Amino acid sequence: MLGRPGTALTTLFSNSIPKVQKAAVIAKTGEKVQIKDDHPVKQPDQLKPGECLVRLHCTGVCHTDLHASLGDWPIPPSVPLVGGHEGVGEVVAIGKNTMGSPVKVGDRVGIKWVAYSCLNCEQCRKGLEQNCADVKLSGYTTDGTFQQYVQSWVNIVTPIPEGISSEAAASVLCAGVTVYRALKQAGTVPNDWVALPGAGGGLGHLAVQYAKVMGLRVIAIDGGEEKRRLCMDMLGADAWIDFTETKDIVSEVKRITGGRGANAAVVTAASSGGYTQAVDYLREGGTLMAVGLPAKAQLNASIFFTVFKNICIRGSYVGNRQDAIEAVNIAASGRVKVHYTSKPLKELERVYEDLGKGKIAGRVVLTM
Ligand code: NAD
Ligand code: ZN
Repeated sequence: MLGRPGTALTTLFSNSIPKVQKAAVIAKTGEKVQIKDDHPVKQPDQLKPGECLVRLHCTGVCHTDLHASLGDWPIPPSVPLVGGHEGVGEVVAIGKNTMGSPVKVGDRVGIKWVAYSCLNCEQCRKGLEQNCADVKLSGYTTDGTFQQYVQSWVNIVTPIPEGISSEAAASVLCAGVTVYRALKQAGTVPNDWVALPGAGGGLGHLAVQYAKVMGLRVIAIDGGEEKRRLCMDMLGADAWIDFTETKDIVSEVKRITGGRGANAAVVTAASSGGYTQAVDYLREGGTLMAVGLPAKAQLNASIFFTVFKNICIRGSYVGNRQDAIEAVNIAASGRVKVHYTSKPLKELERVYEDLGKGKIAGRVVLTM
């Protein structure tokens, strides 16, 4: 029994849910991804109350998935693991005895990094669902979206509105949500300058667009002609700095901003280089939003200038359910577009190689 009228159906096409599926599995961190076609599918009768099964249409590939497969971070992922946390698909089953489900079988939903949070602890009540003590992370501590069917939780999946395709919505679920929230927290007002190191990547190219929606002026910082064209010609950034060619990024940011410096920086570079000069090119009272998560990196900032210039340095980690709904709705309105290339799931290892070399402008979205 479900708590909402019209939701009594707990399984769609129950006999069409296969026992096995295609999945990309990492046996151990540091090892190559194995593409399997006999990975088990959780069956509807194995779902607990509150759980659902989602048949995925597609999934984005985030640099976080590469960090996970390499074991880059101090908290290791659970292995063996199916990675991925930017999935869109449809609910095909809901656990028996689920009460008050906000979604029903047949609904299109998104799977984001936070797969589960209790919604009742102090952090959840404060809106920090990503810091819930019982949090489960898609593609890190619970199997994620690099498979055809993923088990999830009815209260946490993100409803996907009409007017946006699954492929166009997928990368909003992590890249979009993360930069949207970081920009909201950057303390800017319209017409302020925001510097975006990493602007040509998955998170960064969406940051350029959310920043423009918020009325900010954007300095896109990344490397190479393809990313310059994406940021300047297609996304409408106001200025471009190529970090691979520009010797003095601080002077260049100051020149662009009339000598004053940027009001905020949202760093989405996956290398620590993107962080190094940010405190120096921010103007007094500016905010550095730390988003990119390079392996084994420390944030080196001058204590003197951080204090003297009243700089705020703030970490920002994905977003909660409301951030996800807001970010997806802005994308569905057509004002933010994911620039993606579609590839089949079996190409994942090659996508990781390209991500590691900084070769992907925008995102890759895998089809199932
Ligand atoms: P990506 O590889 O698509 O983009 C990173 C971009 O940074 C690339 O375009 C690269 O050329 C650029 N870059 C590298 N060094 C640079 C430098 N010195 N200056 C300017 N640009 C530079 O990766 P992505 O998927 O966008 O993820 C970016 C980072 O954000 C990763 O570390 C990822 O784990 C992290 N991330 C954090 C959160 C969070 O919640 N904070 C969420 C998702 C991803
Ligand atoms: Zn991600």
